[in-house]
Amino acid sequence: MPWRVPLSDVAVDDELVAAVTETVSTGWWSMGPRVADLEREFAEVAGTKHALAVANGTAALHIALLAAGVGPGDEVVLPSLNFVAAANVIAHAGARAVFCDVSGAEDLNLDPDDLAAAIGPKTKALIALHYGGHPCDMDAVHEIAERRSVTVIEDAAHAPGASLGGRPCGSMSKIACFSFFSNKNLPVGEGGMVVTDDDELAERLRLLRSHGMTTLTWDRHRGHAHSYDVVLKGFNYRLDELRAAMALVQLRRLRAGNEARGAHVAHYRERLDGVEGIVMPFGDTRPDAVSSHHLAVVVLPEGVERDAVRSALAEARIQTSVHYPPIHEFTTYADDSERPLPRTEDLALRILTLPLYPHMDDEQVDLVADTLLQSVRAGRAVASDSAA
Ligand SMILES: *Cc1c(COP(=O)(O)O)cnc(C)c1O
Repeated sequence: MPWRVPLSDVAVDDELVAAVTETVSTGWWSMGPRVADLEREFAEVAGTKHALAVANGTAALHIALLAAGVGPGDEVVLPSLNFVAAANVIAHAGARAVFCDVSGAEDLNLDPDDLAAAIGPKTKALIALHYGGHPCDMDAVHEIAERRSVTVIEDAAHAPGASLGGRPCGSMSKIACFSFFSNKNLPVGEGGMVVTDDDELAERLRLLRSHGMTTLTWDRHRGHAHSYDVVLKGFNYRLDELRAAMALVQLRRLRAGNEARGAHVAHYRERLDGVEGIVMPFGDTRPDAVSSHHLAVVVLPEGVERDAVRSALAEARIQTSVHYPPIHEFTTYADDSERPLPRTEDLALRILTLPLYPHMDDEQVDLVADTLLQSVRAGRAVASDSAA
């Protein structure tokens, strides 16, 4: 049963296919000139001096933490309403994840006051997520981080092309990480980018990406180097030329894609926000915030069974999701979870992610909105019956 409206979808066309086949025919497939072009163009979009392409967004977060000096005995603070990748790589760096709460139904980004409360003597870094592509209040985050001498890493996986006060997401902190997974705003399949303005950090990231080796196969192929040294214990987190060729095409479409997403979100908001007790978060953000609109999320009214709503939508062949089951409630993190996170725990039961991708049409948005409103109405009737 194919979805009538899938949660996310990629557009396939001749230009994208041609970029890949042309790269295959060059005979050079591993990191080379296309990766270098992509890094140059991406740095412009991110507003940073350096951009290093990596195998995926999780690899970007892993080497960002290591480059920032995070290691055994350290703590790293991050919101629990988040994808699990950041918490996993904090553990792989030998550190401990400490979770903070979100602001509320209107703002699913981290709560700066609770972030400040979560920082302790062992906190080395914090990872600020731009939830759904909506810029996190980085001014508040940096004010806290500076006072407590904590390194700020941006998880900008949702936020390529987003900005705050004219500053692109990814340019507001020491290091930032992006993902090119298929359902992200710059879809390639697998891929990612880590960006920084700092020359020394960029050099560490470059070494960590490729075994700690001082030269690349590409440099040796071109006769620019004959030998190499290994100066730290790195990984193979490189991106290949095929994905870089796709990413170059997708990068040029990023702005138009984000704007199309924004138009669909505005349509959803008009149909749903404040109707039947539904809240569509981020309706009242800073006027100088530009979102990349990665996700269309609604918060259902209290008492309505989310699973019943999801089933009703699935029945109409509309795919939905939940971003995210909180990290601190997963089995492997349950023991780490000491801080109360009441807003995260309440909202985690009520958030629902609706279909969103640039090439969906208005009829699809209306179909989703109509079906959602119908099922929420039915759910509220059930909720008030059982309360009576
Ligand atoms: C997608 C995502 C990642 C991980 O990126 P991958 O490229 O899938 O490894 C990390 N953090 C967040 C918030 C994400 O959405």
